[in-house]
Amino acid sequence: MMGASEKVDKGALNALLAQMPAVERVIASPQAQPLIAQHGRTQVLAAIRATLDGWRNEAQAGTLVMEVSEATPFSIERVIADADRALAARAQNNLRTVFNLTGTVLHTNLGRALLPDVAVGAVVQALTQPANLEFDLATGKRGDRDDLIDELICELTGAEAATVVNNNAAAVLLALSALAARKEVIVSRGELVEIGGAFRIPDIMSRAGARLREVGTTNRTHLKDYEAAIGARTALLMKVHCSNYAISGFTKSVELDELAPLAQRHGLPVAVDLGSGTLADLTQWGLPAEPTVRATVEAGADLVTFSGDKLLGGPQAGLIVGRKELIATIKKHPLKRALRVGKLTLAALEPVLKLYQAPEFLRERLTTLRLLTRPASEMHEAAERALPALQRAVGEAYAVSVEPMLSQIGSGALPVDVLPGYGLVVRHRGKGGSGRALLKLERALRALSRPVIGRIADDALRLDLRCLEQADEAVFVAQLAELHL
Ligand SMILES: *Cc1c(COP(=O)(O)O)cnc(C)c1O
Repeated sequence: MMGASEKVDKGALNALLAQMPAVERVIASPQAQPLIAQHGRTQVLAAIRATLDGWRNEAQAGTLVMEVSEATPFSIERVIADADRALAARAQNNLRTVFNLTGTVLHTNLGRALLPDVAVGAVVQALTQPANLEFDLATGKRGDRDDLIDELICELTGAEAATVVNNNAAAVLLALSALAARKEVIVSRGELVEIGGAFRIPDIMSRAGARLREVGTTNRTHLKDYEAAIGARTALLMKVHCSNYAISGFTKSVELDELAPLAQRHGLPVAVDLGSGTLADLTQWGLPAEPTVRATVEAGADLVTFSGDKLLGGPQAGLIVGRKELIATIKKHPLKRALRVGKLTLAALEPVLKLYQAPEFLRERLTTLRLLTRPASEMHEAAERALPALQRAVGEAYAVSVEPMLSQIGSGALPVDVLPGYGLVVRHRGKGGSGRALLKLERALRALSRPVIGRIADDALRLDLRCLEQADEAVFVAQLAELHL
């Protein structure tokens, strides 16, 4: 399409089509040379052909609109400009850097934990240089990739042994496949959770070939319910962290320190899917209590599974820790090979885990924890600094204000608002139709070169500034000038 104006009639069109430059002329033109240098001749040639073909097809279909007044509507400059746009769009990666202003720190759809620089450096190194991924430097023989980090995980969790797979869903699938295939797993009805993204405990159970034995009721499960269900076919007792919901009122669940002795009396292991899990007591930073992996192991769990990219603050991974013989059985299962982690994951995970060895610096060095514990005053100041630029960008039709906000941890750590902070709130000034105006604004923010992701609630667009660290503030503010409403 060639700019706005009237349709061209057939006769005039044929004359114009005859003016269309040949592909060879365009590709040989001086204007094409910078594009060729950037994208290569093959792609530039294809883009020029696509542009010319597109115009020809539109012309023949009678849908071509162009500025008739123009002397040379099919100029080489025009073809190049069109090809340039197409090539630039093609060159842009689909995975883009965005601003997460949703207020959810560990946002699954936005990639969860952000890694600290030490991890990034290690990943770059592992990507560009050979490394002893499965090579024992002491003996010169083949090694096991888990050996790189299992001792460190054991040190931080108090577990006897550890292994790592692709994510926590894989960890649960593998553990159940290895320990409970063709047998029964006893789980409380109150813990049969769906995590989202198609992870449901009953489904994982059947995929692992294990039979789910539900006990208790949705709101109340007692120790005697577990006890009555134990039989010859029982492989293990399982507890699942109720990651994304809470039931309150008349409730009762059996805590691990009650369940573990029961399991032990029957010679059965207890597995706990902690979900997020954490390696440090978060209450020391004023955050809500989440069970630590160490406390879970100490309370008698024989096996604990948890994510690498939730509260732990590392790369996507599923960590399995527990008793030596159980971990050994898990590691021998063929699924372990299918679900193993790559060197990038291990390269990122080790330095992140090492940060926990110096808890004094954790708050400052672990990005996730730094964001979760950010002082509200910092976000308040950032919001004040960004307000004028945002108000200018959205124009008179909208009113921007700085307001307190409650962020969430996300990824299944306590599902309630808990973290007070500040952000920018945009409301539409017009009477009625505010919903549509807000959706338009939301879309325009997503169309920026670094898309801004906020959320609409209570008739306002909310941009929570918790995850906008000072280093990115300038980019955020500068690109607001490009906002196209
Ligand atoms: C998040 C979660 C999972 C899935 O973990 P991923 O690392 O996303 O695969 C499993 N179980 C629980 C309880 C969770 O919270």
